[in-house]
Amino acid sequence: MSNIGVIAINTGFVQVKKPFLTRKGGPIGSRLRILLSAEFSSDLPVLAWLISHPEGDILIDAGMSAGWLRPDYLDSIGSFDAWLTRRLCRFQVEPGQSIGAQLPKFRAAGTQGLRVFMTHLHIDHVDGLRELQGCEIWVNESEWAHPSGAPKALLAPLTPRRFAFEPVADPVFDRIYPITRAGDLFVAPTPGHTPNHCSIILRRGGLSYVFTGDAIYNQKQLLTGELAGAHANARLAARSIERLEAYAKTHPTVVLPSHDPDAVRRLAEGEIAPLWAG
Ligand SMILES: [Zn+2]
Repeated sequence: MSNIGVIAINTGFVQVKKPFLTRKGGPIGSRLRILLSAEFSSDLPVLAWLISHPEGDILIDAGMSAGWLRPDYLDSIGSFDAWLTRRLCRFQVEPGQSIGAQLPKFRAAGTQGLRVFMTHLHIDHVDGLRELQGCEIWVNESEWAHPSGAPKALLAPLTPRRFAFEPVADPVFDRIYPITRAGDLFVAPTPGHTPNHCSIILRRGGLSYVFTGDAIYNQKQLLTGELAGAHANARLAARSIERLEAYAKTHPTVVLPSHDPDAVRRLAEGEIAPLWAG
């Protein structure tokens, strides 16, 4: 029996403009379609992931805070970021659903000794950090130096540890950042959604669990190579999806995007992406 646990924590819901999920046209046309569209998606979860590990527990992304219970919360992050966020998304957090409210249910020590690794710095991934005082926050050094679409007011109080990728002899991800000495948990570069977006991979009991952040919004985008309109760089995003696909072809992989309504079920059932040739 493995002594490594994985728990999905649903910290709220987001509806995004439909062209946010599916890209059509070039970079300018794609952004205009998002801004001008009046159609929103159904509710998508905002997931954070708690990994209990003998070398120290890890939280992947921080999800949402209880600030969203206040109707004017978005205004507190700055008028431009508030305007842009309202144009793109609708967020909802129920009482008791924020990361700070839920973490103690899953981890008796709360934030003590917990490290938070960020896939990227968008609002629905960093907002919950407000409620995780005392955690060590880890961010890719390039993502931190060049945050894309990240609300400055939320980043300003943070003093994260910054990590750089290291070269490794691997045919799929030839640069990684190892989180554990055991080599079973590491960060892999999946740029495109933001210029230095990261995914995190856990190997446990013969399976790989790939926490893709927003490199894909759902497993179907991995299977079909569909690009989201929200990606900052479509060419890099397509290359990252190819790498994730190559990984899932060569390792039995449970695919866990941050906003996939089916991810929690796949985690519970250990469902392998239908790409593995083994
Ligand atoms: Zn994002």
